[in-house]
Amino acid sequence: AFEQNSSPNPKYGQVTRPSTQAPGERVNATFVTLARNGDVWEISRSIRQVEDRFNRNYNYDWVFLNDDEFDDTFKKVTSALTSGRARYGKIGPEHWGFPDFIDQDKAARVREEMHEKKIIYGDSISYRHMCRYESGFFFRHPLMMEYEYYWRVEPSIELFCDVGYDPFRYMKDNNKMYSFVLSLYEYVETIPTLWDSVKGFMEQHPEHISENNSMDWLSDDGGKTYNHCHFWSNFEIGNLEWLRSQAYIDYFTHLDKAGGFFYERWGDAPVHSIAAALMLKKDQIHFFNDIAYYHVPFTHCPTGEQKRLDLKCHCNPKDNFDWNGYSCLNRWYELHNLPKPDGYEAEQ
Ligand code: GDP
Ligand code: MN
Repeated sequence: AFEQNSSPNPKYGQVTRPSTQAPGERVNATFVTLARNGDVWEISRSIRQVEDRFNRNYNYDWVFLNDDEFDDTFKKVTSALTSGRARYGKIGPEHWGFPDFIDQDKAARVREEMHEKKIIYGDSISYRHMCRYESGFFFRHPLMMEYEYYWRVEPSIELFCDVGYDPFRYMKDNNKMYSFVLSLYEYVETIPTLWDSVKGFMEQHPEHISENNSMDWLSDDGGKTYNHCHFWSNFEIGNLEWLRSQAYIDYFTHLDKAGGFFYERWGDAPVHSIAAALMLKKDQIHFFNDIAYYHVPFTHCPTGEQKRLDLKCHCNPKDNFDWNGYSCLNRWYELHNLPKPDGYEAEQ
C-alpha cells in the first residue's frame, strides 16, 4: 500500500519543495537504508537532507530493510519524504541470525569479555547481526536484486553541500565500483584476527586478487600486517554486481566461516574496504571530495573555499577530518600520487 510510482502526498510535497527533473538518463540505482522502526525520526532527518541536496532533482528509489516488520508510522513518514518510490523489505532469518557453525557459548563468552573491556557494541548481539548483514547479504535481498548501484544512508547523517550532478551516473560512466568520503583507522580490538583470515583467503583464491590494487593503502609491509585503514561504510555508493560477484561471495564466505563476526566484532567497514582494496583496481575506487558528509563524530567538508561556495556548503571547514592524523586520506593521496588539494594546510 505504501509503494508508489510517483511522489506521495503530492499536495504537501509540492507546496513545500518542488521536485524538479534534472535532465539525463537515470542509472538503475537506489538508496538503501537498514533501520529499525525506532529509527524513524533519525532516518527522516537524513532523508530530508539527501532529498534537498540531491534526490529531489533525480527521484531515485529508496529501499528500506529491516529484520522486523516496518510499522505504519515508519512507512507513512518515510514515504512522504522520498521523491522516488519508497520500498520496504523484510530480511529473512536465513540472512539475519547465527549460522549453525557458530559456537554459541564461545560467542557469549566473547561478548562478556568485550563488555568488561568496554568495547563499543562489544556485548551486542544485534550489532553483530547488523555488521554481518551489511557485509554479506544486503545486496542479495530480493528488492536489491533489481538494481545495479546503491547509495547507503544511515540515520542522523548530514549532507552539507549541493550534489549538483548524478553520482550514480559518475560511477557507471567511469567504471567505479566502490566509493567513500571518510576513511580512518579501525579499533583493533574489534578485528584482531581479521587480517589472518584475509591472508588465508588470498592464499586460497589468488585468482580474485586484482592487479594494480590498493594493498599499499591497507598495509605498510606489502601485506604482512594490516594498518587498520578502512573506508567508513555508513556512506557508500557502490556497484551491487561487484558485491554479487563470485570473488566477493568467496571472500565473504571465507570470512564468515572463520567466525569473526561473532567471536570478535568484525565491522562491515573493514570487511568492505579490504575487499575493495584487494579485489578492485585502485582506480575503481572513488573518493567523493565534493560530497560533504557528517556521521557522528566525523565530518568531511570539501577542501577549497571556492568549491564550498559554489556548492552552497554549510559545513565549517575547521571540522573537516580529511587531514587529521587519524584519517587515512593522506595515505590515499600517496597511493594515487595525487598532489594535496589547494588550501589543505589551513585545515590541518
Ligand atoms: P554505528 O553507526 O556503527 O554506531 O551503528 P548504527 O546504530 O548507526 O547502525 C548501523 C545501521 O544499521 C543503521 O542504519 C541502523 O539503523 C541499522 N541497525 C543497527 N542495528 C539494527 C538492528 O538490530 N535492526 C535493524 N533493522 N537495523 C539496525
Ligand atoms: Mn550509524
